[in-house]
Amino acid sequence: MKSESLHRATLFDRRLWQERLQQSWLLRNVALLCLWLLVFEIGWLVEYTHHASVWYPVAGLTFASLLLLGFSILPALLTGCVLVTFYTAQHYQITLDELQLLKAGLLFGLAHILPYGIGAIVLRTLAKQGARDISRIIVQFLVIAAVSSFCATWLVIPTLVATDMMSQAEITATWLPFWIGDMAGVMVLAPFFVGLLSRVMPSALFRLTDLAGLKQQQFSSKYLMKLLLNALLLTFCMLLAKVTDSPNSAFAIFFLVIPHMWIACSESALLNVSSVALSSFLIAFWVHLFGLMDYVMVYQFAINVIAANTLFGLAIPTLLADNLQLRKVAFTDSLTQVASRDRLEQRAALEIIRSQQDHKPLSLMVFDIDYFKRINDEFGHHVGDQALQQLARLAQQSLRPADLLGRFGGDEFVVLLPQTEIAAALHIAERIIEQLQQVYIADVHQLTASFGVAELNNDEDYEQLFRRADRALYQAKLAGRNRACLAAD
Ligand code: GH3
Ligand code: MG
Repeated sequence: MKSESLHRATLFDRRLWQERLQQSWLLRNVALLCLWLLVFEIGWLVEYTHHASVWYPVAGLTFASLLLLGFSILPALLTGCVLVTFYTAQHYQITLDELQLLKAGLLFGLAHILPYGIGAIVLRTLAKQGARDISRIIVQFLVIAAVSSFCATWLVIPTLVATDMMSQAEITATWLPFWIGDMAGVMVLAPFFVGLLSRVMPSALFRLTDLAGLKQQQFSSKYLMKLLLNALLLTFCMLLAKVTDSPNSAFAIFFLVIPHMWIACSESALLNVSSVALSSFLIAFWVHLFGLMDYVMVYQFAINVIAANTLFGLAIPTLLADNLQLRKVAFTDSLTQVASRDRLEQRAALEIIRSQQDHKPLSLMVFDIDYFKRINDEFGHHVGDQALQQLARLAQQSLRPADLLGRFGGDEFVVLLPQTEIAAALHIAERIIEQLQQVYIADVHQLTASFGVAELNNDEDYEQLFRRADRALYQAKLAGRNRACLAAD
């Protein structure tokens, strides 16, 4: 029993496989060859004209593996190309001898691998330079996908013709679907394969984690529900095209942009590209099963548009996170972590309107450390900073969650106290003064502060209220400090 569970643990232990794959060049190539052949097989499913399918998934895998693992993976890719050439010759009943097929396979391999290899090198270099700008990398990837698949098309087709795998007459009808199919393979599936391969074959050449903002998130039932809804919408659109047999209804597939943008806005990068990979597979599968070959170009373009759209969507969580971070920076005082002056003024304006509408009291407390300059002069700015932090912490502990403590500037703080009458506000100020008696700076200097407290009058705005509280604070300073004074009406 124990050895069985141990055996299972080693078989499914991702870390162990990662180590094995990292150490063994041969194992890496064999594993990739198997995956490449499997993916090639899936491509057959949706072939609709000679040498062209709705999407050509191995183009995506070739690009992804060259991006992550470089030309060390060349043996696997070349072997794959040779093997499928033999297979293709059988499929199209092309009568070439084995040597001719080997030559055709090798030439096809070079024509297929070279453009994607160069594209991968360019993307890797660009990503290293601009890893913090995810939307720029996405544009670069889309351009590289389009250009490298175009080059692959115009290298592979003449190679196929030259090696008698394809007739000259087929070129005109084949090149466009060939290119769009390859481009879909790269745009739609390369990001998915990069995510997948990165998990089992981590590489030093291109690390997804280097790209800023691509957050990783766990697979959840919510994601599953979104995938299901997406698959239902996709199937419905394609059934509509089949039942009505009209090109117009085939265009309904573009509605898929909506669920994919939803997923893009709410899920992690890998889950996003997985959802696009799944949609593209389902589209290709239904085209085949429902016999929708007449509209295949619509579906090819839809796959590309949805993929490009979703890739841009990957930048959304990054932008949202940046936005949140900026809000936090703008609304928080970096030293004391209390509200910034801007945030305080915004909240105060709102609370004042609310309190005047509801006829509820609102008080404002302004306080300032006594002889703070001396603390700075005697103990240094660092100790002065600590005193500010300590006071902010202590004041915060005396407040309710609805109150807002903010730093006005320097050693002056403001507290907004909604639904609080002046007597209660004064009580809070006195409580803070009392607690400060326990606080000594550098164990010798007792920290004290002076307070000014005011209650909002009818038709008063924040500035007027603040000015009255600030004047009361000044009175407290004049009266000898370490005390609270009430503002005059
Ligand atoms: P008073 O009792 O009249 O308030 O006297 P004071 O010495 O506290 O005078 P004041 O409030 O005008 O002093 C403010 C000082 O706070 C001046 C400035 O050097 C210092 N200060 C302002 N911001 C910071 C800060 O972020 N850190 C530190 N350590 N000192 C600051
Ligand atoms: Mg002061």
